[in-house]
Amino acid sequence: MRRSLQHNRRQRIAHRERPRLIVSASVRDFIVQTATESPDVETGGILMGPPNSPSGTVVVTHASDGGPGAQQTAGMFLRNTEYCRGVLHDHYERFGVDYVGEWHSHILPLRGPSMGDLATIAGIMHDPDYDFTTFALLIAVLANPAADEIEVDLLVLAQRRSSGLL
Ligand SMILES: [Zn+2]
Repeated sequence: MRRSLQHNRRQRIAHRERPRLIVSASVRDFIVQTATESPDVETGGILMGPPNSPSGTVVVTHASDGGPGAQQTAGMFLRNTEYCRGVLHDHYERFGVDYVGEWHSHILPLRGPSMGDLATIAGIMHDPDYDFTTFALLIAVLANPAADEIEVDLLVLAQRRSSGLL
């Protein structure tokens, strides 16, 4: 059984600093396992990490699943927001981590964010309830489900107060 996880960073923002994503091994393993266990429909959840990471860097130390009642099809995933809010609260209390991004799997051979993914990111980055300077969207692509292989194919880092979004 081989499980590969490959980071392929695409930087879509013009910024002097090089955006970085740091994902703990336990989160990587969790994402690979969760995505592998859902070969027919998308799955996902939220990403959590230290709230005070250096500018332009997203550190991910914890991740959630989508929770009960998450909407899952072969081409769409919508997490249970109330469930994820509870997970985040619990993790904040226990580990001091905050919401730093989202992850989900792609079943269809779509490498890169869908239009829906971009709309989601745009909504989060422009939501006055949030104050992100950097946000991670991590997409796990089932490269070869039969061989239990997964690639993390895309990372989107977006920054507020840049010219537009992404
Ligand atoms: Zn997607």
